[in-house]
Amino acid sequence: DREEPNYFGAGPAQLPTSVLQKAAVDLINYKDLGLGIGEISHRSKDATEVINNSKEHLRKLLSVPDTHEVFFMQGGGTTGFSSLATNLMTAYVGATGTVAPGGYLVTGSWSQKAEEEAARLRLKTEVIFDSRKFDTNGKFGSIPDESKWADKINGKKFSYVYLCENETVHGVEWPSLPKCLEDREDIEIVADLSSDILSRKVDISKYGVIMAGAQKNIGLAGLTLYIIKKSILENISKAEANDELLAKLNVPVTPIAFDYPIVVKNNSAYNTIPIFTLHIMDLVFQNLLEHGGVEHQEKENNQKAEILYGALDKSSDFYNLPVDPKCRSKMNVVFTLKKDGLDDLFLKEAAAEKLTGLKGHRSVGGFRASIYNAVSVQSVEKLAKFATDFAQKHS
Ligand code: PMP
Repeated sequence: DREEPNYFGAGPAQLPTSVLQKAAVDLINYKDLGLGIGEISHRSKDATEVINNSKEHLRKLLSVPDTHEVFFMQGGGTTGFSSLATNLMTAYVGATGTVAPGGYLVTGSWSQKAEEEAARLRLKTEVIFDSRKFDTNGKFGSIPDESKWADKINGKKFSYVYLCENETVHGVEWPSLPKCLEDREDIEIVADLSSDILSRKVDISKYGVIMAGAQKNIGLAGLTLYIIKKSILENISKAEANDELLAKLNVPVTPIAFDYPIVVKNNSAYNTIPIFTLHIMDLVFQNLLEHGGVEHQEKENNQKAEILYGALDKSSDFYNLPVDPKCRSKMNVVFTLKKDGLDDLFLKEAAAEKLTGLKGHRSVGGFRASIYNAVSVQSVEKLAKFATDFAQKHS
């Protein structure tokens, strides 16, 4: 057992205590088998049941339509950057017999890294916009209005267009998918939802692929969740049947463990899936289903964001919130102190109140309060009160 934490770390992040308690039991003795869930074959009946249940529970939570498939892979978000690029480029060859660049909407360090990885793999990429170019200080912290960049995609072909829905480091979140992309039936939207999956409702039918590392809202590091349009899988297989064409077009072969149609054909167990990690993910899904699903979670997340941003905004002579209010993340609240020399004291006094995990990312500095699904309203209220008191005391 443990005292309920008030932990605001950006990832790995706090998980519901009840989930961890159940998982701890199952790690030692699963369903009275006399063996733990991590010790049984990944092809056994019990392991297959965990895979199938997690898929089904996720489908229910996000109303995943029949047009889309759910699967799991190792490798985290970073492997996603690479595998999305090679698989989607291959799919485009399957669909058209040609290549077109992957387009990237760069709004923070994670979408930037995704683009850099695709380019490193010598795939054609195009940065449709980098939000720093639209910022007066040249920093990440806003998303330019569509009217400023929609022209860049007009009449152009892309094998996919990539965006990161929530930039974990910079605290920038797309409020919704850009309309100009949604309108383009011929463009597959590829989205990184690592730090906002299951925090709000999304319309899965609009996405070509969703990728999400587990270690924030849905579980432990070690697994990545994918939701993919079935037609993309078919196009990849079609292209892979014509290796000569892929070679001629210089499209790299995807490593086998990350080849989406192969992983899907093998029900996410082409190679050994970390089944304990997946079991935890499924317990998180079940916990969410038992507590009102994504709809309820979204309401609570809105409430938490209002409480915290509200408190920081009220002390705006003391706190600096660098992100444009139009795209403030509801998961990662980034702020700095206007006065120099108080950062260490802020962290020290917060820790004395058992408020932890608040240090900002090394590239941004200041503070970052990650208020993922498992962080309670009470924890956020406590932090908001602390921030208000600290501002009053040190103004
Ligand atoms: N995308 C986002 C939005 C992230 O926040 C992170 C990591 N925090 C990653 C990708 C990279 O994930 P990983 O460390 O699992 O490779």
